[in-house]
Amino acid sequence: MKFNIATIPGDGIGPEVIEESMKILKRIGEVFGHEFSFQEVLAGGVAIDKTGEPLPLETIEICKKSDAVLLGAVGGPKWDSLTGDKRPEKALLGLRGALGLYANIRPAVLHDALKNASPLRSDILGDGIDICVVRELTGGIYFGDRGRRENGKLGVEAYDTEAYSVGEVERIARTAFEIAKQRNNKVTNVDKANVLESSRLWRSVVEEVAKEYPEVTLEHMYVDNAAMQLIRRPQQFDVLVTTNMFGDILSDEASMITGSIGMLPSASLGEGTLGMYEPIHGSAPDIAGENKANPIATILSTAMMLRFSFGLEQEAKAIEDAVTKVLGKDYRTADIMSDGMKLIGTKE
Ligand code: ATP
Ligand code: MG
Repeated sequence: MKFNIATIPGDGIGPEVIEESMKILKRIGEVFGHEFSFQEVLAGGVAIDKTGEPLPLETIEICKKSDAVLLGAVGGPKWDSLTGDKRPEKALLGLRGALGLYANIRPAVLHDALKNASPLRSDILGDGIDICVVRELTGGIYFGDRGRRENGKLGVEAYDTEAYSVGEVERIARTAFEIAKQRNNKVTNVDKANVLESSRLWRSVVEEVAKEYPEVTLEHMYVDNAAMQLIRRPQQFDVLVTTNMFGDILSDEASMITGSIGMLPSASLGEGTLGMYEPIHGSAPDIAGENKANPIATILSTAMMLRFSFGLEQEAKAIEDAVTKVLGKDYRTADIMSDGMKLIGTKE
């Protein structure tokens, strides 16, 4: 089959890690008989330098027409003084909005070979960690009504509003249940339904959607408890589904228990098959251009692209198995290096 991929190398180590993913796709194409074509577009700091805008219209148009978007990273100290819509990070928000990507999928997997990278004790890790956080991405308190107003004697107050509609919750819940079906048939819904009205609606809608998935077990957890359980007994989780803000916090927490930011992929999905795939790490300006960046997060994001946007499960698995194999042969980039292992660069 033939697939068109829009690539956004972006800033810092972005171009270096994207380069590695393109090599792997080329190989996958040869082995499995697919054709991947790449169209490189600008976003982030490099786009600001060339066009004055972090997200040029042309980039949006090309991404919309593609079968999937593969992104390295955007931003860096060079553009830190820019504010508002001129910030490189605005490119990400803009793209998610323009492409209707409302679900952010972040697997947190602890590879056997990297067990000692985790800050958690081995008895807590047990036979491994494999959690998938499904975060709502385009609603909630990040996009609600906000402002400032006088509050009498107490002075000025600021407010942000958390609002979720039935439709918004239904679609993110469906994404979570669909992913659970491909995994271990378990969803943990995380909310604060003992306090928040938006969480009470959220929970009831998740329960409704659950009826369409009788094979999947649903449990509910308050966010404070979930934050604790992730550290105390992470093995109990398979798929976690939650709001924009809770997901922001919990997905970072889940990734930290794996101990290696350079290893973790992500996907942003919407209604159709078009998705955007990127490593969870940033542009790492401190190591850019030094052949030190760990490309695995982007390589695993590429595997997610094959799985979710192209429906190529076998090919996705081949990439994931190759990563496990390389780690099993003791090859390590600097960020995951430990005694007795073989140090390699991005390109090896
Ligand atoms: P952002 O705001 O864009 O998320 P950040 O400053 O929070 O950026 P990163 O750019 O992700 O964070 O970098 C955090 C640290 O992790 C840096 O020291 C960086 O060198 C390191 N790091 C990030 N990604 C990788 C990678 N792929 N390989 C090796 N080290 C990495
Ligand atoms: Mg960061």
